[in-house]
Amino acid sequence: MKCSKCGGDMLKSYVEGNFSAEREDKVCDGTVTNKYMCKKCGYIEEYAENPNFYKTGKK
Ligand SMILES: [Zn+2]
Repeated sequence: MKCSKCGGDMLKSYVEGNFSAEREDKVCDGTVTNKYMCKKCGYIEEYAENPNFYKTGKK
């Protein structure tokens, strides 16, 4: 994985993050996120493990 800012190598964090929001059915839910830091410029990117959590009834 490469940094989207400078093209440097990305380092994956062993600590998981969280993203919480309202689903389409108005229920509060969320997903685990994974973080990556650029070794060169320090830019941090975060990805949801389950980006579809906001859809009603989907896993
Ligand atoms: Zn970078």
